[in-house]
Amino acid sequence: MDYKNDISRIIDLFDKTSDFIHFLSFDGIIQQVNNTWITNLKYAQDEIQGRHIDEFVHPDYRQAYHDYREKIMNGKGAGERFETALVAKDGKIFYLDGSIDFFYRENGQSYTRAVLKNITQRRKAEIDSLKNEKRLRTIIEHAPDAIIVINEEHEVREWNPKAEQIFGYSKEETLNRLLFELIIPVNLRDAHKAGMQRLLSTGVSKIINHTVEVPAIHKNGSELIVALSITRFEYDHKWNFLAFIDDITKQKQTETELNENKKELEESRILDQQKNEFISIASHELKTPLTTIKAYTQLMRREDEKGNFKNFHQYLEKMDEQTGKLTGLVQQMLDISKIESGQLHYNFTKINLNKFLHDLVGMLHHIITSHPLELQSEIKSTVYIDAFRMEQVFTNLISNAVKYSETGGTITIRAYEVHHEVIIVVSDKGIGIAPEQQQKVFEKFFRVDQNLNKYAGLGIGLFLSKRIVNDHKGKIWIESKVGEGSSFFISLPTANS
Ligand code: ADP
Repeated sequence: MDYKNDISRIIDLFDKTSDFIHFLSFDGIIQQVNNTWITNLKYAQDEIQGRHIDEFVHPDYRQAYHDYREKIMNGKGAGERFETALVAKDGKIFYLDGSIDFFYRENGQSYTRAVLKNITQRRKAEIDSLKNEKRLRTIIEHAPDAIIVINEEHEVREWNPKAEQIFGYSKEETLNRLLFELIIPVNLRDAHKAGMQRLLSTGVSKIINHTVEVPAIHKNGSELIVALSITRFEYDHKWNFLAFIDDITKQKQTETELNENKKELEESRILDQQKNEFISIASHELKTPLTTIKAYTQLMRREDEKGNFKNFHQYLEKMDEQTGKLTGLVQQMLDISKIESGQLHYNFTKINLNKFLHDLVGMLHHIITSHPLELQSEIKSTVYIDAFRMEQVFTNLISNAVKYSETGGTITIRAYEVHHEVIIVVSDKGIGIAPEQQQKVFEKFFRVDQNLNKYAGLGIGLFLSKRIVNDHKGKIWIESKVGEGSSFFISLPTANS
């Protein structure tokens, strides 16, 4: 049988198949192709006759085609599938896979036959998905936010360049490691784990699809503030969590600084306002005793001219009382400026507190005639104090007790020892102080609003007292009920403690 006819017969058989079939001579020259080949690749039969297969194989596949054919012709690789791509006349690429057989004729002629299935659709889909993956990769790589993906076991699956930049760890350092061991502060790790657990079992989370600001840790240990939003997705029947993270540390710092500046500005504005109020109150307070003293001086001059001296003693007492008030006010003002310039100095000496209190209350008995003063002291220990300053503190507490309670109300001064401390309590049955004001009364210039017009004062007595007590390593505090009275407590360490 003639070789050409033999081929034609086989070609007839295969013309109806959808496979691409071609016969090549030993050196790769096309001998014959089937209908599918012709119709798809859009060449006429005579355009391909005598041409080398390489002219139709896509350049990327030429070497592989060549190698495979070689193998087959050497009697190896029979039945192995291989893949190739042919280019149509119009440039369209056909991806094909199949096998090559080798025929050897007795007359010395040999050729190969390729039977190839069209897998263009599948290959294209694969190429598209590869392209999509590549595109996705590019997006992840170039994302302006850090992108981190973890699985249900908290293991890192994705860590993009921005994440590397924000947290200092390279992708290689993080892959498959537990996220919370990398960037979550130790004190938040349990909360993170519990949150993830809750999310996995209930699907509920505070942070899914929300942006939250949370602290995080950089590789070098420094703390960051990040804006975090998380979404979850299913992959291989398991949940994965995708986090978008933005480093907002600097922004937060600027915000805090701005807020601090604002706070400072507000504080200095309030202080300024308080100072202005203080000046106007202080001038008023100073003017009142001065006016009284001046009135008595004039009265005395007029009576002196008339030779009438019988009321002089009473006038002098009044003037002395007002001078005392003036001295007290000036003293407070001087002390406040001393505190402000850090020049409040003390002269500590060992003092018998029991005697000190008896002397003080004894002296005050003469001055305070409006309220009975009662001293109950069980003190045996000595204390190490600046007697002048402590006298100032107790005088202030007792005169407040007088000022803020009605005439006749008993003022009690109780002193006792507990462990290595002495406690002195000054109690009155006066107007009392509301709970929300109790801490504030120790602030500079603070005065309870309702009392402003009714009672004179500068709002520095208790501020000064607290400062002095603190400088004695002591404490001062209040117990008070509105309408029932107040007790001011002072604790001081005993001299041998
Ligand atoms: P002031 O010169 O105004 O008395 P202080 O610093 O001594 O200044 O007291 C601050 C504020 O605390 C007073 O204005 C008053 O409202 C309140 N206060 C102090 N002591 C008493 C007290 N014994 N009873 C009621 N309120 C008091």
